[in-house]
Amino acid sequence: MTKILVVEDDADNAALLEKFLTGEGFEVTVAGDGASALAATSSTQPDLVLLDIGLGEEDGRDVLREIRLLSDVPTIFLTGRGLESERVAGLKMGADDYIVKPFSLAEVSARIESVLRRAGANLAQHHIDAPTLRFGDLLINENTHEVHLNGERLELTSKEFALLAFLARSPRQVFSREQLLEHVWESSGEWQNAATVTEHIRRLRAKIETDPDHPRWITTVRGVGYRFESDAGAS
Ligand code: CA
Repeated sequence: MTKILVVEDDADNAALLEKFLTGEGFEVTVAGDGASALAATSSTQPDLVLLDIGLGEEDGRDVLREIRLLSDVPTIFLTGRGLESERVAGLKMGADDYIVKPFSLAEVSARIESVLRRAGANLAQHHIDAPTLRFGDLLINENTHEVHLNGERLELTSKEFALLAFLARSPRQVFSREQLLEHVWESSGEWQNAATVTEHIRRLRAKIETDPDHPRWITTVRGVGYRFESDAGAS
């Protein structure tokens, strides 16, 4: 069930919104002031906040600032008519939308749907993109552990994948074989031979490089170690 937190000091208005939104199938929590709004944000983890700017002595924008310290929850401001500067300031400081009072319930419903849809799309996008490192034609998906080069999937062992992903997470940074042993093999150089790294780099290059003798993705920095060339895909 989608949870909405309504922050409004006017009891009649809050009750109206609560009744309407409950009827629309939302789980509704009402807070009458900033402190209750913050408490409810932590305890109920709402999917959306409807936040009135006029909260008696308090300003809803200050409340949003504090909510933002706890959560990125999508937030819609309720604001008085004609307060254009308030609205612009509100959007600038991270509200997702605003509704001008007096509003129709149909408008409230439409705004909520639109903001939730946007938030859902962002979330889905985030889940797809976050684990994927992209460098030109080379895609390294840390979620599925798949590597694609020029649209073709490469067969890598789990160690080869771990080594490539580790290097690619810090493009252009040089790592010594000892450092790679420590981070990728999670052991110190005393227990594993650094030649293990050399051998895995060789196998990895055989799979991802067009010409393994002149690598463009994973290069050797003589006397230091290896690094991932992030702009190699452009060549
Ligand atoms: Ca109010």
